[in-house]
Amino acid sequence: MDTVLDLLVKIQNLDDEIKDTGAELARIPQEIAKLETQIKTREEDLKKAEDRIQELKKNYKLKELEITENEEKTSKLNTQTFAVKTNEEYRAILNEIDFIKKRNREIEDEMIGLMEEEEQLKNSIDRIRADTKEFKDITLGKIADMKKKSESLVERGKMAKAQLHDDFAKLPEDAKNLYTRIKKVRDKAVCPIVDNTCTGCFANLTHQFLNELKQRNKILLCDNCGRILVYTNSRT
Ligand SMILES: [Zn+2]
Repeated sequence: MDTVLDLLVKIQNLDDEIKDTGAELARIPQEIAKLETQIKTREEDLKKAEDRIQELKKNYKLKELEITENEEKTSKLNTQTFAVKTNEEYRAILNEIDFIKKRNREIEDEMIGLMEEEEQLKNSIDRIRADTKEFKDITLGKIADMKKKSESLVERGKMAKAQLHDDFAKLPEDAKNLYTRIKKVRDKAVCPIVDNTCTGCFANLTHQFLNELKQRNKILLCDNCGRILVYTNSRT
């Protein structure tokens, strides 16, 4: 009976291991997906900053062009002033020139703003780029580790299943049926006793019952939860 009880404990441990490795395996793809999203977000932020620099450069050039065009306009208008016949006409042209010059000053202010933003971005982009690369390298390393871990978990699960299969076959028929029946209802079928307590339902066991269990000469069930109780010296 000693062997059967020890075998039952071993089978339960294998069952637990299979369950744990399965749960851990199921979590890994989600964790990998989360890390991949983090990399993507960082890369998108970097791309946004790079695009913004290009956009600022482009806008700056457009404004430069606008200023040149306005300067050409004013010089044409200046030439026209020599040909005017009336004071009214003359004033109208001067007004127009004033208006264009005012507009050019506004454009120059806007260009300073664009330049400042570009400077700021340029100063930080190298750091953003380096940070993104570092984050990506570290995170890809983590992902590779997780994939490796996943493989080893699959292997561990396979081995535990094979071992469980072998050990289960060694049990007497009645113990097999009992284990299967309890497992179906209670998930965990075998509970080692720790601190005079059933580790399945945490019910305290009576002194008399404990003495019976210590003899280890038959399979005994917890009065409270119906699981197989096993007294193991090494565990208490
Ligand atoms: Zn119990």
